Amino acid sequence: MTELAERKMRFLYALRSKGVTDPRVLSAMERIDRGHFVKGLFAERAYEDTPLPIACGQTISQPSVVGLMTQALDVGPRDKVLEIGTGSGYQAAILSQLARRVYTVERHRRLVREAQEVFDSLAFTNITALSADGSRGLPEQAPFDRIIVTAAAEDPPGPLLAQLREGGIMVLPVGQSDAVQSLIKVTRTAAGYDYEELRPVRFVPLVEGLGQD
Ligand code: SAH
Repeated sequence: MTELAERKMRFLYALRSKGVTDPRVLSAMERIDRGHFVKGLFAERAYEDTPLPIACGQTISQPSVVGLMTQALDVGPRDKVLEIGTGSGYQAAILSQLARRVYTVERHRRLVREAQEVFDSLAFTNITALSADGSRGLPEQAPFDRIIVTAAAEDPPGPLLAQLREGGIMVLPVGQSDAVQSLIKVTRTAAGYDYEELRPVRFVPLVEGLGQD
Protein backbone atom coordinates (compact mmCIF):
# COMPACT_ATOMS: atom_id res chain seq x y z
CA MET A 1 0.00 0.00 0.00
CA THR A 2 1.26 3.49 -0.79
CA GLU A 3 1.96 5.90 2.03
CA LEU A 4 -0.96 8.08 0.92
CA ALA A 5 -3.39 5.16 0.92
CA GLU A 6 -2.19 4.22 4.36
CA ARG A 7 -2.68 7.75 5.66
CA LYS A 8 -6.19 7.82 4.25
CA MET A 9 -6.99 4.51 5.90
CA ARG A 10 -5.81 5.84 9.24
CA PHE A 11 -7.90 8.96 8.62
CA LEU A 12 -11.08 6.87 8.25
CA TYR A 13 -10.15 4.74 11.23
CA ALA A 14 -9.75 7.88 13.36
CA LEU A 15 -13.21 9.07 12.28
CA ARG A 16 -14.82 5.77 13.28
CA SER A 17 -13.03 5.63 16.58
CA LYS A 18 -14.29 9.14 17.43
CA GLY A 19 -17.90 8.13 16.81
CA VAL A 20 -18.51 8.86 13.13
CA THR A 21 -20.42 5.69 12.27
CA ASP A 22 -23.04 6.76 9.69
CA PRO A 23 -22.00 4.91 6.51
CA ARG A 24 -23.20 7.73 4.23
CA VAL A 25 -21.08 10.27 6.11
CA LEU A 26 -18.06 7.97 6.15
CA SER A 27 -18.33 7.27 2.45
CA ALA A 28 -18.64 11.01 1.65
CA MET A 29 -15.55 11.65 3.77
CA GLU A 30 -13.73 8.85 2.01
CA ARG A 31 -14.57 10.36 -1.39
CA ILE A 32 -13.69 13.98 -0.58
CA ASP A 33 -9.94 14.41 -0.28
CA ARG A 34 -9.20 16.91 2.52
CA GLY A 35 -5.85 17.50 0.82
CA HIS A 36 -7.62 19.73 -1.75
CA PHE A 37 -8.69 22.14 0.99
CA VAL A 38 -5.43 22.62 2.88
CA LYS A 39 -2.69 24.67 1.25
CA GLY A 40 1.05 25.21 1.52
CA LEU A 41 2.95 24.11 4.58
CA PHE A 42 0.04 22.33 6.18
CA ALA A 43 -0.99 20.24 3.16
CA GLU A 44 1.01 17.25 4.32
CA ARG A 45 -1.01 17.16 7.55
CA ALA A 46 -4.36 17.04 5.73
CA TYR A 47 -5.11 13.49 6.90
CA GLU A 48 -4.45 14.14 10.57
CA ASP A 49 -7.50 14.49 12.79
CA THR A 50 -6.68 18.06 13.69
CA PRO A 51 -7.85 21.55 12.76
CA LEU A 52 -5.33 23.41 10.55
CA PRO A 53 -4.78 27.07 9.67
CA ILE A 54 -6.20 28.43 6.39
CA ALA A 55 -6.10 31.98 4.94
CA CYS A 56 -7.58 35.03 6.71
CA GLY A 57 -6.58 33.73 10.16
CA GLN A 58 -9.28 31.03 10.06
CA THR A 59 -9.15 27.25 10.43
CA ILE A 60 -10.36 24.16 8.63
CA SER A 61 -12.20 22.14 11.26
CA GLN A 62 -11.02 18.86 12.73
CA PRO A 63 -12.27 16.02 10.48
CA SER A 64 -13.92 14.08 13.30
CA VAL A 65 -15.86 17.22 14.28
CA VAL A 66 -16.91 17.69 10.63
CA GLY A 67 -18.06 14.05 10.65
CA LEU A 68 -19.95 14.30 13.93
CA MET A 69 -21.67 17.54 12.89
CA THR A 70 -22.62 16.12 9.50
CA GLN A 71 -23.95 12.98 11.17
CA ALA A 72 -26.01 15.03 13.66
CA LEU A 73 -27.43 17.06 10.77
CA ASP A 74 -28.95 13.87 9.28
CA VAL A 75 -28.96 15.20 5.71
CA GLY A 76 -31.22 13.59 3.11
CA PRO A 77 -30.80 13.56 -0.69
CA ARG A 78 -33.66 16.05 -1.24
CA ASP A 79 -32.44 18.56 1.35
CA LYS A 80 -31.50 22.17 0.77
CA VAL A 81 -28.72 22.96 3.22
CA LEU A 82 -27.28 26.26 4.43
CA GLU A 83 -23.77 26.41 5.86
CA ILE A 84 -22.49 29.52 7.64
CA GLY A 85 -18.69 29.74 7.56
CA THR A 86 -17.36 28.34 4.26
CA GLY A 87 -13.72 28.61 5.36
CA SER A 88 -11.79 26.14 3.20
CA GLY A 89 -14.96 24.68 1.66
CA TYR A 90 -14.31 21.20 3.08
CA GLN A 91 -17.51 20.92 5.12
CA ALA A 92 -19.56 22.22 2.18
CA ALA A 93 -17.96 19.62 -0.10
CA ILE A 94 -18.93 16.80 2.29
CA LEU A 95 -22.49 18.17 2.47
CA SER A 96 -22.68 18.38 -1.33
CA GLN A 97 -22.36 14.58 -1.47
CA LEU A 98 -25.40 14.10 0.78
CA ALA A 99 -27.77 16.95 -0.08
CA ARG A 100 -29.61 18.21 -3.14
CA ARG A 101 -28.15 21.71 -2.88
CA VAL A 102 -25.75 23.46 -0.53
CA TYR A 103 -25.58 27.22 0.04
CA THR A 104 -22.48 28.28 1.92
CA VAL A 105 -21.88 31.79 3.22
CA GLU A 106 -18.54 33.29 4.28
CA ARG A 107 -17.61 36.81 5.43
CA HIS A 108 -14.11 36.73 3.83
CA ARG A 109 -14.32 37.15 0.04
CA ARG A 110 -10.90 35.57 -0.42
CA LEU A 111 -12.02 32.33 1.23
CA VAL A 112 -15.14 32.22 -0.94
CA ARG A 113 -13.01 32.70 -4.05
CA GLU A 114 -10.53 30.00 -3.09
CA ALA A 115 -13.24 27.52 -2.06
CA GLN A 116 -15.07 28.18 -5.34
CA GLU A 117 -11.88 27.34 -7.27
CA VAL A 118 -11.69 23.98 -5.53
CA PHE A 119 -15.41 23.29 -6.15
CA ASP A 120 -14.92 24.12 -9.83
CA SER A 121 -11.85 21.93 -10.15
CA LEU A 122 -13.76 19.00 -8.64
CA ALA A 123 -16.88 19.78 -10.74
CA PHE A 124 -19.19 20.14 -7.72
CA THR A 125 -22.16 21.87 -9.27
CA ASN A 126 -24.63 21.78 -6.39
CA ILE A 127 -22.74 24.21 -4.12
CA THR A 128 -23.36 27.96 -4.19
CA ALA A 129 -20.74 29.95 -2.25
CA LEU A 130 -21.50 33.56 -1.35
CA SER A 131 -19.72 36.31 0.56
CA ALA A 132 -22.06 37.82 3.12
CA ASP A 133 -22.63 38.12 6.85
CA GLY A 134 -24.02 34.68 7.63
CA SER A 135 -25.45 35.73 10.97
CA ARG A 136 -28.38 37.05 8.91
CA GLY A 137 -28.75 33.74 7.12
CA LEU A 138 -29.75 33.75 3.46
CA PRO A 139 -33.35 35.02 3.45
CA GLU A 140 -33.72 34.88 -0.35
CA GLN A 141 -33.26 31.07 -0.34
CA ALA A 142 -35.08 30.29 2.93
CA PRO A 143 -36.49 28.12 4.33
CA PHE A 144 -33.78 25.47 4.68
CA ASP A 145 -34.15 21.81 5.57
CA ARG A 146 -30.82 21.84 7.36
CA ILE A 147 -28.54 24.61 8.68
CA ILE A 148 -24.98 24.13 9.94
CA VAL A 149 -22.93 26.90 11.51
CA THR A 150 -19.17 26.38 11.72
CA ALA A 151 -18.35 29.45 13.83
CA ALA A 152 -19.49 30.02 17.40
CA ALA A 153 -22.13 32.54 18.49
CA GLU A 154 -23.23 33.19 22.07
CA ASP A 155 -26.74 32.06 21.15
CA PRO A 156 -28.33 30.65 18.00
CA PRO A 157 -28.83 33.69 15.72
CA GLY A 158 -32.54 34.59 15.43
CA PRO A 159 -32.53 34.89 11.61
CA LEU A 160 -31.14 31.34 11.31
CA LEU A 161 -33.82 29.92 13.62
CA ALA A 162 -36.43 31.74 11.52
CA GLN A 163 -35.02 30.34 8.24
CA LEU A 164 -35.21 26.72 9.39
CA ARG A 165 -38.13 24.79 7.93
CA GLU A 166 -40.55 23.07 10.31
CA GLY A 167 -39.09 19.61 10.91
CA GLY A 168 -35.67 21.01 10.01
CA ILE A 169 -32.44 20.58 11.96
CA MET A 170 -29.69 23.09 12.74
CA VAL A 171 -26.33 22.12 14.24
CA LEU A 172 -24.09 24.84 15.70
CA PRO A 173 -21.54 25.64 18.37
CA VAL A 174 -22.70 28.13 21.01
CA GLY A 175 -20.88 29.81 23.89
CA GLN A 176 -18.27 32.43 24.69
CA SER A 177 -15.94 32.74 21.71
CA ASP A 178 -12.61 31.86 23.31
CA ALA A 179 -13.83 29.45 25.98
CA VAL A 180 -15.11 25.94 25.41
CA GLN A 181 -18.33 25.94 23.48
CA SER A 182 -21.15 23.46 23.25
CA LEU A 183 -22.24 21.83 20.03
CA ILE A 184 -26.03 21.89 19.96
CA LYS A 185 -28.71 20.42 17.73
CA VAL A 186 -31.87 22.46 17.26
CA THR A 187 -34.97 20.81 15.80
CA ARG A 188 -37.85 23.00 14.66
CA THR A 189 -41.22 21.49 15.56
CA ALA A 190 -44.77 22.72 15.03
CA ALA A 191 -44.71 24.01 18.60
CA GLY A 192 -41.30 25.71 18.58
CA TYR A 193 -37.69 24.58 18.91
CA ASP A 194 -36.14 21.58 20.71
CA TYR A 195 -32.53 21.89 21.89
CA GLU A 196 -30.12 19.02 22.46
CA GLU A 197 -26.58 19.47 23.72
CA LEU A 198 -24.16 17.16 21.90
CA ARG A 199 -20.57 17.72 23.07
CA PRO A 200 -17.97 20.37 23.92
CA VAL A 201 -16.20 21.89 20.88
CA ARG A 202 -14.00 24.83 20.02
CA PHE A 203 -14.61 27.03 16.97
CA VAL A 204 -13.53 30.46 15.77
CA PRO A 205 -16.13 33.13 16.64
CA LEU A 206 -19.03 34.15 14.43
CA VAL A 207 -18.23 37.77 13.59
CA GLU A 208 -20.79 40.21 12.25
CA GLY A 209 -20.24 42.14 9.02
CA LEU A 210 -18.02 41.41 6.00
CA GLY A 211 -14.26 40.81 6.38
CA GLN A 212 -11.58 43.12 4.97
CA ASP A 213 -10.36 40.63 2.39
N1 SAH B 1 -16.52 25.07 7.57
C1 SAH B 1 -15.15 25.48 7.41
C2 SAH B 1 -14.49 25.86 8.71
C3 SAH B 1 -14.70 27.29 8.86
S1 SAH B 1 -13.97 28.19 10.17
C4 SAH B 1 -14.32 24.43 6.70
O1 SAH B 1 -14.84 23.35 6.40
O2 SAH B 1 -13.16 24.71 6.40
C5 SAH B 1 -15.29 29.34 10.36
C6 SAH B 1 -15.49 30.31 9.24
O3 SAH B 1 -16.60 31.12 9.60
C7 SAH B 1 -14.32 31.27 9.03
O4 SAH B 1 -13.86 31.17 7.72
C8 SAH B 1 -14.94 32.64 9.31
O5 SAH B 1 -14.43 33.67 8.48
C9 SAH B 1 -16.40 32.39 9.05
N2 SAH B 1 -17.32 33.34 9.69
C10 SAH B 1 -17.25 33.89 10.92
N3 SAH B 1 -18.29 34.73 11.11
C11 SAH B 1 -19.04 34.71 9.98
C12 SAH B 1 -20.25 35.35 9.56
N4 SAH B 1 -20.91 36.21 10.34
N5 SAH B 1 -20.72 35.07 8.33
C13 SAH B 1 -20.07 34.21 7.50
N6 SAH B 1 -18.95 33.57 7.84
C14 SAH B 1 -18.43 33.81 9.07
